[in-house]
Amino acid sequence: MPNPQGKYHDNVAGKWYVDDTCIDCDLCNDLAAKNFKGNDDEGHSFVYKQPEGEEELKQCQEAKESCPVGAIGDDAA
Ligand code: SF4
Repeated sequence: MPNPQGKYHDNVAGKWYVDDTCIDCDLCNDLAAKNFKGNDDEGHSFVYKQPEGEEELKQCQEAKESCPVGAIGDDAA
């Protein structure tokens, strides 16, 4: 389960985030490139833009379901 308490500092404010269990596989960056990208210095991905519209939301949901470690959440305050 993704943990909003463990989300990385570089996630943009909003309910979508990547937490500290990310293994930097880059899958979310491919599936939802408008919303996720990698932090190469720190070796993890993060949400740089919250999803807007149906298409981005669908891509984020696909990324969340596909993340191998369940590091993507959409339940942050
Ligand atoms: S799919 Fe999951 S493990 Fe892979 S980079 Fe994205 S958040 Fe990290």
